[in-house]
Amino acid sequence: MVSLREKALEELLRREPSRLSPTEGKISDIFGINVFDRIKMKQYLSEEAFESVIAAVDEGRRIDRKIANQVAAGMKVWALERGASHYTHWFHPLTDSTAEKHDAFFELQQGGGAIERFRGELLVQQEPDASSFPSGGLRNTFEARGYTAWDPSSPAFVLDGTLCIPTVFISYTGEALDLKTPHLRSLLALDTEAAQVCQLFDKDVKKVNVTLGWEQEYFLVDEGLFIARPDLLLTGRTLMGHVAAKDQQLEDHYFGSIPDRIGAFMKEMELESYKLSIPVKTRHNEVAPHQFECAPIFEEANLAVDHNLLLMSVMDKVARRHKLRVLFHEKPFKGVNGSGKHCNWSMATHTGVNLLSPGKNPRSNIQFLTFLVNTMKAVDTHGMLLLASVASQSNSHRLGANEAPPAIMSVFIGTTLSAMLDSLEERVSDKKMTPGEKTEIKLDIGKIPEILLDNTDRNRTSPFAFTGNRFELRAMGSSGSAAAPLIALNTAVAEQLHNFRLQVEALIEKGVKKDEAILQVLRTVIAECKKIRFEGNGYSQEWQDEATKRGLPMINDVPTAFKSFLSPGSVKMFNDYSVLSERELESRFEIRNETFVKKLQIEARVLGDLAINHVVPTALEYQNVLIENVKGLKELFPTGDYLKLAETQLLSIRKISEHIRQIRESTINLVEKRKEINQNNDVFERATLYSKEINPVIEDIRYHIDKLELIVDDKIWPLPKYRELLFLH
Ligand code: ADP
Ligand code: MG
Repeated sequence: MVSLREKALEELLRREPSRLSPTEGKISDIFGINVFDRIKMKQYLSEEAFESVIAAVDEGRRIDRKIANQVAAGMKVWALERGASHYTHWFHPLTDSTAEKHDAFFELQQGGGAIERFRGELLVQQEPDASSFPSGGLRNTFEARGYTAWDPSSPAFVLDGTLCIPTVFISYTGEALDLKTPHLRSLLALDTEAAQVCQLFDKDVKKVNVTLGWEQEYFLVDEGLFIARPDLLLTGRTLMGHVAAKDQQLEDHYFGSIPDRIGAFMKEMELESYKLSIPVKTRHNEVAPHQFECAPIFEEANLAVDHNLLLMSVMDKVARRHKLRVLFHEKPFKGVNGSGKHCNWSMATHTGVNLLSPGKNPRSNIQFLTFLVNTMKAVDTHGMLLLASVASQSNSHRLGANEAPPAIMSVFIGTTLSAMLDSLEERVSDKKMTPGEKTEIKLDIGKIPEILLDNTDRNRTSPFAFTGNRFELRAMGSSGSAAAPLIALNTAVAEQLHNFRLQVEALIEKGVKKDEAILQVLRTVIAECKKIRFEGNGYSQEWQDEATKRGLPMINDVPTAFKSFLSPGSVKMFNDYSVLSERELESRFEIRNETFVKKLQIEARVLGDLAINHVVPTALEYQNVLIENVKGLKELFPTGDYLKLAETQLLSIRKISEHIRQIRESTINLVEKRKEINQNNDVFERATLYSKEINPVIEDIRYHIDKLELIVDDKIWPLPKYRELLFLH
């Protein structure tokens, strides 16, 4: 029988890049055609309904029932025109992916016939029978109801004939069962606190939005090869496979020309994105072979998160049309770079002023410094929580490993800006400044824009880097939702801005002038968070030593990272800003640990199966060939000659037996260990044991399989090899 590998390779030779007929007209002509955005709302809604939705989005006002009916009716008319027959509440349960349950618009009429109908109550709230989603104990079986509720700030869209309405997902008792709910709450917290700090500088600022520009990294592999690898299919990563002789050493893939077949995929993926208003702008090859990246123009954070999740599902669908599979796993291949989802994060006033962009005069520059320094301090205070938020089983291959190492939290701001903070720390004092001192300091602060203009020292090894007009969180993994780290970051910054303002106000009350009060508190904050500033190589041993000296926490283990959700500081902060209650945090802690265990369980099972049912039989088959060969040599030659001629074969026969023995032992050991650990009722302990005891056995089995791959005849090796997965398209 031909193996799947052979079949896949044969088919691959026949693949052609699919030709997409060039789009007529410009991107701007199709941009957003499948989105019920403000322009369409104006067209399809009464003025009253339109104004209500806008007030709900901009000011968080409620939409009443009558209006909801009008909105639903308008939305339906538009959706039917766009070819939709069904509608769904589109939500994000705590599984890192989106969920949907489609219902048809049509209703039966009394007296026969059917009509398309969509009532306001169905738009506003639904109760999907979604009791199987993880809730971490927030829902008992007798009260398993979960509700989805419309999020008007993220516009509805039509995808594949279904009207999708972005919603939050909450329990019967109002607890969050998703990431969107706490993300929206954190955005509100930050808006409230940041707007008040802005008012120290500009009384007219009413609202502050968080802006997010994500960069999505991913791998593409040929569909045939993908299907021939049960590990990729079931776990999203290769659990075995010897590294190819060539991978990324030559750095010839990064920013290289995009292969035709991949290019065709990208073009179609972009086309679909534009129709959905996802403003993808950049595409390029990434560092590893078959690794790519796309990035959009940044948007308001809630919308940006939805767009990222939507794009991921669009990419998956489009890839299949091109007989490709997209891999969002953080580390699908050993030995080459993994994938992240860098989150470019900033804050902007409702009038569009970027608060992390230096201004034109000293006052706006002090405002810039205020937001910069307070963000750094927030990351200093809640760094471990930020790490916990991006920690997962799949990201653990990046976490603590040699890529954007988030094991230690540090902030990079560049040497010149760093020097500026040092000089402020030195020169500002608690005493009243002379007019001369003040002018001098303000003059220096006024130089910030120039400093940043030629500030080219970018540090790729920092987990949280200032890049001129925004921070870039690099610790986030490619597969998760960007809402996760943003919930922590937004709330932490809100808390810090709150503390900052109280300190400034206290000084003002004591008679210190406002500008001096701001500078004085800034100086304190700069000093307090100095330890987290790091400009050097974040991957180096020196940094680990230095971080230890500075007393910075270091986390190398995922379940331990999760503990930060329950630290007193996190619980208090999330509670103070009504982002997550202690009960909600506990449920998240439980779900995260549980998911961690389940993913490792699946990996262990898949590897066990591959080892025993694919690899060992193949190795035995080849060993038998060698044995036959040795027997033949023995028959033909005198003993002295035979021993020399059969030397390598005999050695290989031995090695094969040895590796097989080790694989068998470890596989049995793996099963025993799992059984034992599964007895433990505490989910955190279970996760910790899986991390410490199961992971090494998985690695050990892989080691022996990869050794066998080097010995066994290539012709009979059943699974596509790294060089095929990473170099053929
Ligand atoms: P790089 O490769 O240098 O990191 P990219 O062009 O790949 O840069 O990505 C930069 C990302 O930063 C884009 O998604 C862009 O929209 C985003 N970005 C730029 N300015 C802001 C901002 N003020 N707030 C949030 N994101 C921003
Ligand atoms: Mg980039």
